[in-house]
Amino acid sequence: TSEEAAAKAAAATADTGGPTIFDKIIAKEIPSSIVYEDEKVLAFRDINPQAPVHVLVIPKVRDGLTGIDKAEPRHFEILGQLLYAAKLVAEKEGLAKGFRIVINNGPEGCQSVYHLHLHVLGGRQMAWPAG
Ligand code: IMP
Repeated sequence: TSEEAAAKAAAATADTGGPTIFDKIIAKEIPSSIVYEDEKVLAFRDINPQAPVHVLVIPKVRDGLTGIDKAEPRHFEILGQLLYAAKLVAEKEGLAKGFRIVINNGPEGCQSVYHLHLHVLGGRQMAWPAG
């Protein structure tokens, strides 16, 4: 579809390592629909939802994590906190029948925002393999 083509094109040019839209969401300079928040993690609804529930879970401090490919041992704690927050989001959103957690990485992974984020998707039957 044209939407898929646009996502691929955006992903191909997105990796600058500079500030991203998520910095403004964290700073609450632009509004977001927050589902969960703690000291280290923020979870908010995706602006272009791909499922009835589509929430992004991000670290409040990027600390070099433009993507999961940049993970280092110093990130072990935040990586665990992100996964645990994703579980809390799924629970809060009532996804007892199942859900999916996705990390897109790099151009071929269709990553478009270079601030690590987990997608929590649910509320419908998922297909496998993912597109
Ligand atoms: P990626 O393609 O895995 O990098 O995911 C980035 C996600 O961020 C996409 O699903 C976008 O729809 C979402 N997104 C981009 N800008 C905003 C925003 O301002 N608010 C909420 N979600 C956003």
